[in-house]
Amino acid sequence: MTSINNKNNGDAKNRGEKNRIDWNSIEEKWRDRWEEQRIFQADPDFARKKYFITVAYPYPNSPQHIGHGRTYTLADVHARYMRMKGYNVLFPMGFHYTGTPILAMSRRVAARDKDLLETFEKIYHVAKDVYTSFVDPLKIARYFHNEIRLGMKELGFSIDWRREFSTVDIIYSKFISWQFRTLRKKGLIVQGSHPVGWCPNDQNPVSQHDTIGDVEPAFNEYTLIKFRISDGYIIPTATLRPETVYGATNLWVNPNIEYVKIYLRDKDERWIVSKEAAIKLEFLDHKVTIESYVLGKEIVGTLAKNPITHVWLPLYPASFVQADSGTGFVMSVPAHAPYDYQALEDLKNNDSIQKEFGLKFIEVKPITVIESDGYSGIDVIPSKQIINKLNIQDQTDPEIEKATNELYSHEFYKGKMLQNTGKYSGMPVSEAKDKVKSEILMSGDADTMFELINKPVNCRCGTQCVVKLLNDQWFLNYGNTKWKYLAHECVNNMEIVPEEIRQEFNYVIDWLRERACARKTGLGTKLPWDQDWIIESLSDSTIYMIYYILAKYVNDKSIIDPDNLKDSVFDYIFLGRGNLVQVASECNISTALLEQIREEFSYFYPVDSRHSGRDLVPNHLSFFIFSHVAIFDRKNWPKQIVVNGSVLMEGKKMSKSLGNIIPLRDAIKEHTADAIRLAMLISAELLQDAVFSFDTVKGIRSKLQDIYDMGKESSTNSSQLQIKSAKIIEELEDRWLLSRLQRSIADTTVSMDKLRVREAAHNILYSLDHDLQWFEKRAKAKNRESSSVQYTLFTFLNTRIRMLAPFAPFLSEEVWEKIDNSSTSIIFASWPTADEDKIDIIAEESEQLIMNLIFDLQKIVKVTRIDPKKIIFYVAARWKLKVYNKILSSVFLESKSNFGDIMKQLIKDPETTKAKNDPNLVRKMIEDILSDPIETRNRRLLLENFDERLPIEDARNLLSLESGTEHAEILVYLEDDTDQSKHDPKSKGKFARPFKPAIYLIDQ
Ligand SMILES: [Zn+2]
Repeated sequence: MTSINNKNNGDAKNRGEKNRIDWNSIEEKWRDRWEEQRIFQADPDFARKKYFITVAYPYPNSPQHIGHGRTYTLADVHARYMRMKGYNVLFPMGFHYTGTPILAMSRRVAARDKDLLETFEKIYHVAKDVYTSFVDPLKIARYFHNEIRLGMKELGFSIDWRREFSTVDIIYSKFISWQFRTLRKKGLIVQGSHPVGWCPNDQNPVSQHDTIGDVEPAFNEYTLIKFRISDGYIIPTATLRPETVYGATNLWVNPNIEYVKIYLRDKDERWIVSKEAAIKLEFLDHKVTIESYVLGKEIVGTLAKNPITHVWLPLYPASFVQADSGTGFVMSVPAHAPYDYQALEDLKNNDSIQKEFGLKFIEVKPITVIESDGYSGIDVIPSKQIINKLNIQDQTDPEIEKATNELYSHEFYKGKMLQNTGKYSGMPVSEAKDKVKSEILMSGDADTMFELINKPVNCRCGTQCVVKLLNDQWFLNYGNTKWKYLAHECVNNMEIVPEEIRQEFNYVIDWLRERACARKTGLGTKLPWDQDWIIESLSDSTIYMIYYILAKYVNDKSIIDPDNLKDSVFDYIFLGRGNLVQVASECNISTALLEQIREEFSYFYPVDSRHSGRDLVPNHLSFFIFSHVAIFDRKNWPKQIVVNGSVLMEGKKMSKSLGNIIPLRDAIKEHTADAIRLAMLISAELLQDAVFSFDTVKGIRSKLQDIYDMGKESSTNSSQLQIKSAKIIEELEDRWLLSRLQRSIADTTVSMDKLRVREAAHNILYSLDHDLQWFEKRAKAKNRESSSVQYTLFTFLNTRIRMLAPFAPFLSEEVWEKIDNSSTSIIFASWPTADEDKIDIIAEESEQLIMNLIFDLQKIVKVTRIDPKKIIFYVAARWKLKVYNKILSSVFLESKSNFGDIMKQLIKDPETTKAKNDPNLVRKMIEDILSDPIETRNRRLLLENFDERLPIEDARNLLSLESGTEHAEILVYLEDDTDQSKHDPKSKGKFARPFKPAIYLIDQ
């Protein structure tokens, strides 16, 4: 029998070499066993509560790398945790072929894109004859589908693979057709003209998943105000603040860019705009003929008439005006736009420019048309005021952007129109903005224009995207207010983890409008009523979680003929509509089968937890909510959404150019699945970016090795039966370790319930390890036989390994097999529950005292350089403990910490009245208490008559050892001990305070 002494003396490195885990064979063994035992296959079990977890299915256009792994691993840890809590967990996986991501890649292969082919070869290690076949998009999809599935299995994901599907499966298409007909019947799919992000090369609408870098093209609606010049030409200016047209003093033109004179056939008007603007106008459905070109400098000084105030305004030169922003002209409202104010000031102070353009004395003065809190009074110029406040020097100062945004929103929410705005006088800006806009649009003095606000956005084909006004396009009408209302209701009633994301959802729901749901190209399902269109990938992926129910029956060939799947089948299964016998005969399916599928759906739905990366909040996750509330009854609305941040590799963003993309399967092979899983989750809580590093992986592996070794030792030392009949040891450190264990179970369970997995993994891997080391140190110092610590160590390991199981499933199974005789998977061993009876505050206080004393002792030895022969501890007198307790309850329960008040209370009570002789002591005790952590204060409130002598005597050997002198004699006295033998030559005893014994060292 090995004794604990040997175990502790063992050099970790040697031990590692002796028992190095053969991870590969362990992983293979458990993968096979899980599959054989069909452990992750979930079927309805009406005796158990179900839990349905899904993750956004991947596009199989590349293998998964470390960056992808986080979301899926988190979902798997969650699934495994819920299984151990007794739930019947369904965790399925599908593959998203549809849309443009895969198609775009096959086109790049066909074009022999060097970058891409190199990536296939060097990063993903795809054989050449394989990747040359990738000109066929389905070949890409099938290849990486297989790669990803293997990677998920290798990482130990607990997926029910019977339910796998891809979104180009014929029956999936049937299902999507049903979904779209259902939405259309509800009036939520409309045809019309709406602006969309657009790739001019592909002639296709684009959204996030169609662009390089996954950027959603975002655009704003601007009002184009038409200023007329004397020869009849119109100079349009784009603005988000049409109500400020009353304060326009001039227009800005860039002298260095080329403008075009165009004829708009659809409006029978002649405009001057930048060349770039002319192209944008064409995409916005204007019929443009270019007549001639003119340089900006040729029109500086021209006068243009304000259509609202009828005042003639000069065109002044400004270099901040950009050709590709708006129309290439800017309406200048210096009183309310800091840029305009500053540019005007700069121009006034620049004689050479004035001379160059023959501008005479510039007498333009800002015209204030809005007043608001902080910006009212005669002669107030709001933009001037904010420029002074932020100390802005000129128009190139970056702070000017901040000033612009601040003033814009301040005036929008708090501003009122002034008298010089005619009938709008006194109206809140938020109201006047829309009224002015519709008035000038009605009169024909304005137009609207859509403009990308996050450009450049590039399509996956490389072309820069534009905004296009698309006619006769099919849209999901996310602008429908009733629909929005239901979506808000769903968000407000579900769990959003972390909670701070909830407002982001509500914001997106408000902001979403009509969204193009079909494309001319791409893989996928045709719009059932208009075969020219293919449903795009963010529209055919919103309620597919229900398809996992059906996929099981498709894959086991219970459902074969797609023609049998009429809408009435879907209506019956998913919506509970129709008559069983009638639907069954109409669709040529047996009533038994139909009923079984319906029951399975009713059992597993709704989704209990949907996991995804944060980047899917503004699109996929919001569409997921919208589609559910449109199609299903409230009881089938999703219960929870969990969102996580991204992964940084060794602190850097992952990118091909940095060469730090590591395919998951390679990483698993080299570093083991369990270590990779833990390393992805342990560095950050949900929303933070996780930092993946190989040092962390190494550290984790060595901790896992220790746990494995302990399991191995446990299994050779004892059988479980022996342990069960073993006498429960009542030593202080055993009671302490088991008490700490209960606290750890309670804390870790709370963390897991809130999916604070970083915290949970830290508790299990590091905090418990720390406790274990202390226990072993204490036991070793007491020379305990290994048989005497078996029960405690076994209980500790048995509990810890069950908490580790969701994170490190392979190692946990392996250890569990060694220490548990039931020969069932650890998945069926339940998640531990904390046993209140094992919480032992005396043991906790005792061990804390010993730790503190070792710390103090080492400090004293270091400072005094004494090599002590005797170490004497004086513990505080009883009456001091009474004083301490009284102070603790005033400080803690009544939150009093005023010295005078506390002293008065102490003196009043005969038991503590002695305190008046030692005010310094009372002061120190108050300080002690204030500096203790809450949990310590809580514990001490419950402690009565704690005798500090017992733990000191118990740890005699350890204290002696840790003082640096192996055989120092340890003596303990009560401060006011009247015993003759008490040795206190320097009267140190009187300095003792409760939980702070006085220490005296003697070196001879
Ligand atoms: Zn394109």
